[in-house]
Amino acid sequence: MHIEKEVKYDFSDVLIKPKRSYYTSRKEVDLERKFKFKWSDLSWNGIPVVASNMDTVGTINSAKVLSKHNTLTCLHKFHNAEELNKIPNSIKKNIAITIGIAEGLQILHELGDNIKHFNFICIDVANGYTEQFSDFIKQVRSEFEDKIIIAGNVCTPEMTEQLILSGADIVKVGIGGGSACLTRNVAGVGIPQLSAVIDCSDAAHGIGGMVMSDGGCTCSGDISKAFGANADFVMLGGLLAGHDENSGAITENKITGEKTVEFYGMASSTALDKYYSDKKGKDYKASEGKLVKIPYKGALEDTLLDLLGGVRSTCTYIGAKKIKDISKCTTFVCVNNQLNNVFV
Ligand code: 5GP
Repeated sequence: MHIEKEVKYDFSDVLIKPKRSYYTSRKEVDLERKFKFKWSDLSWNGIPVVASNMDTVGTINSAKVLSKHNTLTCLHKFHNAEELNKIPNSIKKNIAITIGIAEGLQILHELGDNIKHFNFICIDVANGYTEQFSDFIKQVRSEFEDKIIIAGNVCTPEMTEQLILSGADIVKVGIGGGSACLTRNVAGVGIPQLSAVIDCSDAAHGIGGMVMSDGGCTCSGDISKAFGANADFVMLGGLLAGHDENSGAITENKITGEKTVEFYGMASSTALDKYYSDKKGKDYKASEGKLVKIPYKGALEDTLLDLLGGVRSTCTYIGAKKIKDISKCTTFVCVNNQLNNVFV
């Protein structure tokens, strides 16, 4: 047994210190960034805010809205090839097809020639620490060498490096921080998200890879903090859920008229019952996600523009003209009385 005594931080443990800025209007801020990748020869130009591959978030209807603003959607993995083929080609560049080890490459093969329109493949497992996962990334990279591969989740630098060296262009970083996640309670496992992103991005950038901070953003300020911590992409679940374009049952309170929407973790019993009727592993697996009811939020586009407006606001406070400058312009201040020091 070993204890690491260095304090690790979550988004709520810090604030970003304001700095002298030349920018007075949010309009002056450019949130688009041009990306080149370690393995894929494709480049991608867009706003690196990403809809999570949860079935209540990463839907085709969400992708249609998010793509208009050049943001990315990782579709959930339960779409079939027919549904994927019907997506207009113009938005496929802003979409990642998600697969897991269990499903293998089947859906990618079923897409046939149409796969050429999609830029991204997202390989998503709850625990990215197995040898089997690294081997699977190698297999996907060798068969789809031109694609931009996103893979995760992990939350430590060594494993970030391993996934990149196995063929991932972007590593999804985050274990236990999701709003519908119970891993920290059920398994006691995880790393506070801000520190995970700082440590993993340092490792990834050192070898030409990138990271996507995944989970734990509760407001636009947290998205800015993730970029401040040097995330190249920021993935959102709960913040982009609860809209007309997501799936998720809407209920209306007959007395107050208040509407709520179901949002659940992909490892919750709700999701497992929906997609895995054979109940394989029910004797030894615990559910690591929960079902929550979140307020109904209306049109996804309004929420997206609010969130991006928040990030623009951060930029004007710290003197960052471009999204890539956020980390260079960020000094985090510890709050919540944990430590009275300033770092980064
Ligand atoms: P949020 O933005 O809602 O805080 O977090 C979204 C992320 O939570 C997802 O992208 C995914 O990585 C993670 N997640 C989704 N469902 C589950 C679950 O059932 N269990 C766990 N441990 N994590 C989940």
